[in-house]
Amino acid sequence: MDTDRRRWCVAAGLWWAGRAAGQVEADPVVESLALPDARLELQFAPGFDPALRAEARTWIERSAMAVSGYFGRFPVAAAEILAIPFEGGGVRSGHTSHGETGLLVRVRLGRRTTPAQLLADWIMVHEMIHLAIPRVPRSQNWLHEGIATYVEGVARARAGLLPPAEVWREWRRAMPQGQPQAGDRGLDHTPTWGRTYWGGALFCLLADVRIRQRSEGRLGLQQALQGVLAGGGSYHAAWPVDRILATADAAVRQTTLAELHRQLGARAERIDLEALWRQLGVEDEGLRDDAPLAAVRRAILS
Ligand SMILES: [Zn+2]
Repeated sequence: MDTDRRRWCVAAGLWWAGRAAGQVEADPVVESLALPDARLELQFAPGFDPALRAEARTWIERSAMAVSGYFGRFPVAAAEILAIPFEGGGVRSGHTSHGETGLLVRVRLGRRTTPAQLLADWIMVHEMIHLAIPRVPRSQNWLHEGIATYVEGVARARAGLLPPAEVWREWRRAMPQGQPQAGDRGLDHTPTWGRTYWGGALFCLLADVRIRQRSEGRLGLQQALQGVLAGGGSYHAAWPVDRILATADAAVRQTTLAELHRQLGARAERIDLEALWRQLGVEDEGLRDDAPLAAVRRAILS
């Protein structure tokens, strides 16, 4: 068994568990995808037809370029992308992991997925963003999932894959799920789904707005996160949350992220989202350019 094959079997172990032993011997289709500054190994588990593999390759490359556009480069020099088939169409359940063999993004991809579904997918971009952030203690996963959730919309809009108005509409709909509920003890101590994904995303939005206000529009969360990557903070590394935030703050010569963490990390503080949307000019009817922070809003997605 060659190295690639063995690595694949380790990676796909969860999938193979429970399947008939004979199927373990089926070979994946392995392809290489060269990005301008990284190399991806695409691994297709048995069951995809060649046309879908070609479309999936385009989708993976498009997602990688959107993520590279935000971070200034692809976050890591090499990663493996494993697609596992299911009956039906669409992309399901992404997962990013770090192991002895390297970094692996695993997704389930329907055997009848259409190009339109691949174009509308957010999961691949979300997973690739995880590669740009150091691993954190499980209890503080809100920072990882929050960045992936927030930056996914930004990166796709900037790459022209999603209209900005649609991103704001989605955030306006979804961000309230990140507010503290009864019994909440702050982001660091409340590992619910809503606080992890949307509480973390709301943290990122507040940070982005505040960094832009304090830098008079010159800098944003993007430059802060690029600083983390430039400082060696990718998914290859495991860092405490405070180190990630301090490194990001230093990149924009502010203390915005550390302040927000002090404010929201250990306390159940509700954000006045209605006031935030009004200031940004995000309304039910659409976007308003006469709002006080309309310029900040436009800068976030363009
Ligand atoms: Zn995630």
